[in-house]
Amino acid sequence: MTPVRAVLKNLRDRIKEYHLQRQSNLCCYCRSNLHGGGLFTIDREHIVPKSYCKELTYTMTNLSVACKRCNMEIKKVK
Ligand SMILES: [Zn+2]
Repeated sequence: MTPVRAVLKNLRDRIKEYHLQRQSNLCCYCRSNLHGGGLFTIDREHIVPKSYCKELTYTMTNLSVACKRCNMEIKKVK
């Protein structure tokens, strides 16, 4: 892994950890428990999609964590 990729991965992991703690390990939509769900069942979520407002891409209050199922459902609607 290149140094830049390693830094970005670390940053993404920390953002996810922060939101998991803030949401008490619950999906922001269906409130199912994400604890111990592993990397593939938890998606970082942009509440306002990046395609609508690029400026909010790294705004902490626009970020959240959702279960994979909800994230896929929301993407269909967005
Ligand atoms: Zn969910």
